[in-house]
Amino acid sequence: MELYVPTNANKSKVKNLIIAAHKDDGEMIGLKGIYDSLDADGSCTMIILTDGGGCPKTGKYAGLSYDEMVALRTTEQKNASEIGKYNSLYLLEHKSNDVKRKSSSITSELTYILRQFSGIDTIYIHNPFDNHPTHKAASQIVINALRDLKKTYDIKNVVQEGGVNYLPPKQIIAVEVWGGLDWIPGRYKYIIDTSKAEELADKLMSQFVSQNFVKKYDVASKARRYANATFYESHNENVYESFSYGLDLTNFVLNTNKEIKDLFNEIVKLFSKTIEK
Ligand SMILES: [Zn+2]
Repeated sequence: MELYVPTNANKSKVKNLIIAAHKDDGEMIGLKGIYDSLDADGSCTMIILTDGGGCPKTGKYAGLSYDEMVALRTTEQKNASEIGKYNSLYLLEHKSNDVKRKSSSITSELTYILRQFSGIDTIYIHNPFDNHPTHKAASQIVINALRDLKKTYDIKNVVQEGGVNYLPPKQIIAVEVWGGLDWIPGRYKYIIDTSKAEELADKLMSQFVSQNFVKKYDVASKARRYANATFYESHNENVYESFSYGLDLTNFVLNTNKEIKDLFNEIVKLFSKTIEK
């Protein structure tokens, strides 16, 4: 694990935490959080679970070894953290397979880090229904870690090791990447307005040269946000310039012990009613 502090880090209190699977996902799922954390009102921290060495490599990147790819992606991620003035960047550097099998040691490591971020405003995580298995697993790991922490603050006035009380985040928002969330019924939808953050998005995403070279994530993520805004309402002019769809998991994570599949079934049941109409 490496804890990197950008040279121009925003040192104010952390209010937004972004927990992503790969080096470049955090800038997609946490764009709004990064945008909201550029001033003295509060900062953002990002935690990346994998080392990113297993990504597809073509063209000029085809000859890079696993370790060279890891190093290149780390540099790209650190550059983005400078642009976004992150308070800090945690690079946990796990193998994708260990994240996919939801290793309990990763959950414990995350729980340990999360303890330092008591009572923050928002945690942005991956959508638990994401099509990418590593993203899906990353989402579940965060949910497990937050529920583990819950055991410590459920008891009133509990004083943990070090004498620090942990308070839960005010909001936990899961955000679309591989597969959109536009289909989910309104009750579950959470609109993350990125209208003012597009210029920042360009600067952040342009740091991930190796990833955009192979997959054009910079263009694709922006295009989705604009498409969401256009196809939001058919009878009015656009309300937003751009936005991402999220799923508000605050209640699900903090106040229930339901599994992801229970939540999915609940949502699909409601979704089927909307198309029967
Ligand atoms: Zn990813």
